[in-house]
Amino acid sequence: MSLKNILVLVSVGILTIACHFSEKQTESENSPQKIITKPIYEFGYNLDKYHVVKDTIRKNETFGIILDRHHVTYPKINTIVENVKDSFDLKKLRVGKPYTILSKKDSTQQAQVFIYQPNPIDYTVIDFKDSIISTHKKRKPTEIRIKTASGVITSSLFETLESQGLNPLLALDLSDIYAWTIDFYRIYKNDKFKVVYEQEFLNDSIPIGIGKIHTACFEHNGTPFYAFNYVADSIMGIDDYFDDESRNLRKAFLKSPIKFGRISSRYSMSRYVRIYGYHRPHLGTDFAAPIGTPIMSTANGTVIKSSYTRGNGNYVKIKHNGTYSTQYLHMKKRAVKLGEVVKQGQVIGYIGMTGSTTGPHVCYRFWKNGKQVDALKEKLPAAKPMPDSIKPHYFEFIKPLKKQLDNINYPKLLQEKDIIDSLSYTITEN
Ligand SMILES: [Zn+2]
Repeated sequence: MSLKNILVLVSVGILTIACHFSEKQTESENSPQKIITKPIYEFGYNLDKYHVVKDTIRKNETFGIILDRHHVTYPKINTIVENVKDSFDLKKLRVGKPYTILSKKDSTQQAQVFIYQPNPIDYTVIDFKDSIISTHKKRKPTEIRIKTASGVITSSLFETLESQGLNPLLALDLSDIYAWTIDFYRIYKNDKFKVVYEQEFLNDSIPIGIGKIHTACFEHNGTPFYAFNYVADSIMGIDDYFDDESRNLRKAFLKSPIKFGRISSRYSMSRYVRIYGYHRPHLGTDFAAPIGTPIMSTANGTVIKSSYTRGNGNYVKIKHNGTYSTQYLHMKKRAVKLGEVVKQGQVIGYIGMTGSTTGPHVCYRFWKNGKQVDALKEKLPAAKPMPDSIKPHYFEFIKPLKKQLDNINYPKLLQEKDIIDSLSYTITEN
């Protein structure tokens, strides 16, 4: 997923701003029975008490121009601007953003309140109906709903989510949950996923963003990998994803030192090296990605080398414990110093092509007891096993969740050529 797509999502969200022109219900004067109408509130004001104007900021329009149009005198505008300037930057009003003016309902129609909405959730209220001028920043109430989705991988996880109309941000969250379990560079066509997650809504219908993923199942090469978010914060300080056998999905090591990219060369005892023109062992795993892509430490540790050699280029080596160290070669730039303590996932450098290399990649070397081994074949220890004492509770907890997951159907895939065109996903609300 590209930043552009996120931006598209964000801008779609902004375009669908809720402009509730509340219809005023009027009481019939002749009616013998008094009809009680419910007052319409927005931004904390009873809209029935005002003349309401909704508009958007136009080009070359300032706060002063808008208030002037709504019959506020210049001395008053100056007083408001003076009062507001410490809490709200009036220069930040952006062309195209909506605002609301609440004016007196009498013949003067003089503005009393100005409300600016930079996005669908946040708004700033400038209230100048009394001599004391107040400015408040507020948020509209949102609602969280639990949604389920499933999909079949046709290309990358991100492209699949996009082509299937699902929020690509879901891919980021899924790849975080499965970062230790599934190698997203090697997902198979027809791998499948199901996910139960929170979606935040504004005004019942406008999706704002993805919340927490509750449960997921990723079927990789025919094997299902379950993930259940389990929180036992108060007693054990646990808030993690565990599988259907209570194993922590987090491992002491990440599967890859970069978030997105592909494996361009695996660990091999006899690899043909183009630039040398002969076979020699390749004791690392190469992850290719564009120059500048952040490289992460795959586990907690201490930097024991941050330097340059002709073969390695810029490289970093990290000692994780008495058994394991990892090393990262060919960086464009190193981001850590000798002796620095680093955390799993921390950026330690950036993809480059320094040293002996023919293309931008990081050569990831995994050291076990002083020997280089194949990182992809190592059985890596779990981060924090679940204590036996809470396992019975955990298994009870996941029983209905697993059932819910198992009952989600995968979308039917048609002929291969139809895959891209068909909406091969299902999305439901519970
Ligand atoms: Zn390599």
